[in-house]
Amino acid sequence: MRIIDFHTHLQDRWFLRPLPSETQFLDGMDRCGVEVSCIYTIMGFYGNCERENNQLANYARAHPKRIIPFATVDPKLGKPAVEELERCLSNPVFRGVKFHNWLQAFAPSMARETMIEILRCCARHDAPVVFHDGTPPYATTFQIAAMTRWVPEAKIVLGHGGLADYVYPAGQLLRDMPNLYICFCGPKAGDLPYLVEMAGADKVLFGSDFGFSDWKMLAGRLDDVIESGLDNASIEKILHGNAEQLLHLKERPL
Ligand SMILES: [Zn+2]
Repeated sequence: MRIIDFHTHLQDRWFLRPLPSETQFLDGMDRCGVEVSCIYTIMGFYGNCERENNQLANYARAHPKRIIPFATVDPKLGKPAVEELERCLSNPVFRGVKFHNWLQAFAPSMARETMIEILRCCARHDAPVVFHDGTPPYATTFQIAAMTRWVPEAKIVLGHGGLADYVYPAGQLLRDMPNLYICFCGPKAGDLPYLVEMAGADKVLFGSDFGFSDWKMLAGRLDDVIESGLDNASIEKILHGNAEQLLHLKERPL
């Protein structure tokens, strides 16, 4: 079965803590049968977005068939953030955007005007926007889902599908908001059938957070999907088909 991992981080360190290297990252993908990973920054959530975005693009240039970078900007900066986003999304190597409101320390409502411009920019480029969700005070699942009403043409992804405390409302929001998607990355294994029962299998994507931890977490989270008891057609959509569509891989192959 083909696998796209929609939620990973590729960065050699988190402050002083070493993380899987580029080689270890690719080895982990091979070991677990992952064909393509969407990579996000970590240190870029603390500043220097431009430098970190350039680094993500370098990884993609080195592994063009395996790695798709998602850009990050800091909405608290206002116009320069929108300009940096436009710069990244004008480069065809970037196919999505990632925010980590919690680490970046902004509630969407604090930066509402800029967020609307950012979401419009993403919609123009038809690039999905992934948000960390599931942790107060800046990133509850409700705060993220509320943005689907601000710019209905933007495709917004709950990066953790409610994570732990918000999985139940995440299922309801997924059902009710047409432009909301879920990356199944973090909730308990048994939560996946619930999300699919609530909203169907067309809006759920597999993600692992690999890179933030070693390959064993990737293997475990993959197992949660494969052994979920869902039918093969649903599993195929979650592991590959839905991501292929959001990333335009048929129209624009890697
Ligand atoms: Zn993550």
